[in-house]
Amino acid sequence: MRVLIFGAHPDDMEIGMGGTIAKHVDAGHDVIMVCATVPTRHEERMLEAQEGARILGARLEVLDLPPDDIGHNRRTIREFDRLFVSFDPHLVYTHWDQDSHQDHNAVSRAVITAGRRNRCSILMYEQTIPGGVVPGGFKAQSFVDISEQMDRKRESILVHRTQIELNGGDWWLEGVRGRAMYRGYQMNVRYAEAFEVVKEIEAHFGNQHRELASHQNGRTAGEGQPAANAIPER
Ligand SMILES: [Zn+2]
Repeated sequence: MRVLIFGAHPDDMEIGMGGTIAKHVDAGHDVIMVCATVPTRHEERMLEAQEGARILGARLEVLDLPPDDIGHNRRTIREFDRLFVSFDPHLVYTHWDQDSHQDHNAVSRAVITAGRRNRCSILMYEQTIPGGVVPGGFKAQSFVDISEQMDRKRESILVHRTQIELNGGDWWLEGVRGRAMYRGYQMNVRYAEAFEVVKEIEAHFGNQHRELASHQNGRTAGEGQPAANAIPER
């Protein structure tokens, strides 16, 4: 299975779903973490992003878009489209679309647009910690037991050294762990991460419709770019 994960900044994916990333890697899935922008302390945070991905065992792609260009706009969606076509993921994760941070929010909306061909499932991880209080409520609909991955999640967050003091040190880490405990308690395990579902497409049956879609378009997989995965004109 190919899994594509989007985060606006270095550390977002580790905080939101580091345990699930490690669990996908443990299961032998091909996992790419996509970091859209590095807004501050560029050199240090690039290294921190690489270290976080290494601990979780995923590949990392830093798009390095200028922070002011991040938005639900053509520039961002073009970059995301390119990844959807080249990697052709079965499962995509992104920020919660109501996250209080404008970059998180924009990445989520751009991912939902880039997934418009409906070839993959899309799930949203919970609001980044720290994050502002917003009027809507996160709908925890899908849970992953990360009891065995919790230590790696914590370690992958700790490598973001530029953020630790900024976010309150141990207090911050305890907040992240506390949420995982709460989600774990809900599903009778030690630690868990929760997701809101945008769409699930044949998730329980290995996305077999994708092969059917290619066949219906008179193209077989491997024969150039499958027609079903072509980027539609906008
Ligand atoms: Zn962020």
